[in-house]
Amino acid sequence: MSKPKVFVTRHIPEAGLKMLRQKFNVEVRTAKAPISRAELIKKIKGKDALLCLLTDQIDGEVLDAADPQLKIVANFAVGFDNIDLEAAKERGILVTNTPNASTEAVAEHTLALLFAAARRIIEGDRFMRAGKYKYWEPELLQGSAIKGKTLGIIGLGRIGFAVAERATDEMGMKCLYTDLHRNPTFEKLYHGKRATLETLLKKSDFITLHVPLLPSTRHLISAKELNMMKKTAYLINTSRGPVVNEKALVTALKNHKIAGAALDVYEFEPKMAPGLKTVDHVTLTPHIASSTHQARDGMSMMAAKNIIAALSGRKPPTLADPELWSKRRK
Ligand code: NAD
Repeated sequence: MSKPKVFVTRHIPEAGLKMLRQKFNVEVRTAKAPISRAELIKKIKGKDALLCLLTDQIDGEVLDAADPQLKIVANFAVGFDNIDLEAAKERGILVTNTPNASTEAVAEHTLALLFAAARRIIEGDRFMRAGKYKYWEPELLQGSAIKGKTLGIIGLGRIGFAVAERATDEMGMKCLYTDLHRNPTFEKLYHGKRATLETLLKKSDFITLHVPLLPSTRHLISAKELNMMKKTAYLINTSRGPVVNEKALVTALKNHKIAGAALDVYEFEPKMAPGLKTVDHVTLTPHIASSTHQARDGMSMMAAKNIIAALSGRKPPTLADPELWSKRRK
């Protein structure tokens, strides 16, 4: 009997590919740029599993191009807003993501952005490279203190919690959070306080976003919310770009409604809203919050474990939605 076929839309760290190659016939696309929709529709035919990335849009049309043997779409990401979950459920195809593997990396990157914004690291770097450092100045590139300041966490899930833990325990910050659920452990251990979004926006010195991209979180932060923030506050986004109305953010930054922002994700990625790159008090990274060797190896192995389980008739460890299992194709 021939081995099940797995298609991987782009090269990912070898750790997981090695696991897959031991059991399956694995085709890894070698091109550096994301796969086109037309190529994806062609390549998914005849495959038992698809390992895809957040740059791949997986909807009903793509899934219908697959043959009935397709059992699983394994996303190499925590967020799965690039996959139409309902379309997968209707067709009995499993969908998995890679939670936990990147939690620490994203939390660390979030704090790196917080420090960079507060202490104007990137502006300082640009200043040096431009040869502008002529003499020491008492008021040059003044930033904000971090210890004792209030961090507002929007979405206290895995990553939000990891950020909050470090901010309170190691950086001496106070925490407010908003989430659909109360977290009594966090409140007890780290003295974090749950607040409404409005209170959090008004009282926080730093605000960090850790919600998934859902219809309810799209543009969660828009002009109205930015106007509620303190003029001295910073906004950090390592969740998903469309959670913030980027045009409204550019306006708020240009009008000094807030002190600054630090972004790893963009509303129309990889593009940036007009004017964003000309604003000095914004720190920009190219969606690399989970990009440590450790996290990306972990994500690769987790995606592989999900595929191995699904193709062996076992429940994958990290289903995007528990309901997918009862609706799977048998
Ligand atoms: P998680 O599911 O553990 O946490 C999300 C939290 O958001 C949950 O506690 C949930 O209750 C809360 N939430 C949902 N809707 C909300 C709302 N309207 N208001 C307030 N809270 C709400 O997920 P996680 O592992 O912490 O990851 C969070 C997100 O981070 C992912 O969905 C993904 O989009 C993003 N992410 C980005 C990168 C990156 O490279 N930049 C890497 C990993 C994850």
